[in-house]
Amino acid sequence: HMCCERMKETNSLNYMIHEIPSDILSHQAKISEQSYLQGRPKALDGIPIAFKDNFCMKDTPTTCGSRMLLNYKPPYSATMVEKVARAGGIIVGKTNMDEFAMGSGSLDSWFGPVANPWNLVARPGREAEQASGWVIAGGSSGGSAAAVAAGASLAAFGSDTGGSTRNPASYCGLVGVKATYGLLSRHGLVPLVNSMDVPGIVTLTVEDAAILLDTVAGHDARDSTSVCETYAPFEMDRALDLSRVHIGIPREFHTSGLSAEVRDLWSATADALDRAGAKVSQVSLPHVQHCLVCYHVLCCCEVASNFSRYTGIEFGLRRGSEESTEELYAETRHHGFNDVVRGRILAGNFFLLRKNFDRFFLKAQRIRRLIGEDFRSIFSAGVHFLLTPTTLTEAPTFAWFSQKDNRTRCAEQDIFTTAANLAGVPAVSVPLGVSRRGLPLSLQVMGPHFSDARLLSLAHWLE
Ligand code: GLN
Repeated sequence: HMCCERMKETNSLNYMIHEIPSDILSHQAKISEQSYLQGRPKALDGIPIAFKDNFCMKDTPTTCGSRMLLNYKPPYSATMVEKVARAGGIIVGKTNMDEFAMGSGSLDSWFGPVANPWNLVARPGREAEQASGWVIAGGSSGGSAAAVAAGASLAAFGSDTGGSTRNPASYCGLVGVKATYGLLSRHGLVPLVNSMDVPGIVTLTVEDAAILLDTVAGHDARDSTSVCETYAPFEMDRALDLSRVHIGIPREFHTSGLSAEVRDLWSATADALDRAGAKVSQVSLPHVQHCLVCYHVLCCCEVASNFSRYTGIEFGLRRGSEESTEELYAETRHHGFNDVVRGRILAGNFFLLRKNFDRFFLKAQRIRRLIGEDFRSIFSAGVHFLLTPTTLTEAPTFAWFSQKDNRTRCAEQDIFTTAANLAGVPAVSVPLGVSRRGLPLSLQVMGPHFSDARLLSLAHWLE
């Protein structure tokens, strides 16, 4: 009830694009209350949770922030949605996002931009300045992070293909988890880049993230990339013994553009770990400097193939004359997609042309392999975790961010986050400080494949 109230008060920030009707919410609440009272408590009984609008929910709008899917109601629910509902969670709504999760600021949505709830704290009563002085929520899961920061839900699911969960979590002062690829089912998560997409978790605390991850992790026969072994239940170590932990500080993450505030937080945190008994040393991941280019080429190639499903025939928008199939496709795709989506489809088809295939797609695949090898060799040399920034700065203002095109925005915003997606390793963004302007600052920790529980233990120690 309180979350619904908060949503009413604050959704002018535009984080929720579809609210679940209150009679359905009350019905869900009654069911979880009954099972609780009957002595059969479930992990998420009564907990309000929001889902990014690229998770399919049966008979409920699932738009991916795009005009293409405005009228789309899937006939089935994503595994993440099903698992949350089965554990007693109450799904309060679908959150705003960059169209088809292509972006890093939640400005490129058919439903308009998402504003960061911290605007209300850092600059209260100055709504008139929204256009210039207000800061963005980050993206592409900006709606999910803003919903949690505004108190409209206690946790939210986003998706993380290149940083889309960690980036908004960082800007909104929340914990953002990108699990090991294959640990969480992608079934029913509308794909952006199948080989990198991971359902993301946004929570107020690391402990909440561990509970949620434990609840939804595990094999799913409906996702062929879901890993077969059983990894749940999660055992987060609440009293991590740092004397046995070796933390690496990757040299290549000291990039230009890193703000003094984030740099200071990074070194202060490394010092704190050192003082607490951890071994902290500088390490090198020589190929991560190629992450952004590699991510961009592979993303566009997978998008070109993935997005061929939006033809106006089976579902979604239909535009143009039905006399000519080609015209129907062209008109539908022209009106249904924004410039960013069309641009990536075009670029992907260019990279995949027979004459370009080796130079772009194959080369990017090879670089991706080298990036993965970098992580593997660091971790097999005895380094347990890596500590890096999540973003270059605190949340930027709308005014500054809107001057740039989507490509430049992503290049700046995803600089520290895409490596984990290319390598498939887990990464957690943890809020650890406040900037001079009163906005959250965060750092990122990464670990080897399937070290998710240990990584959360480290994040818990840090928070
Ligand atoms: N900013 C990146 C992109 O636009 C990452 C998006 C994501 O993680 N969904 O592709």
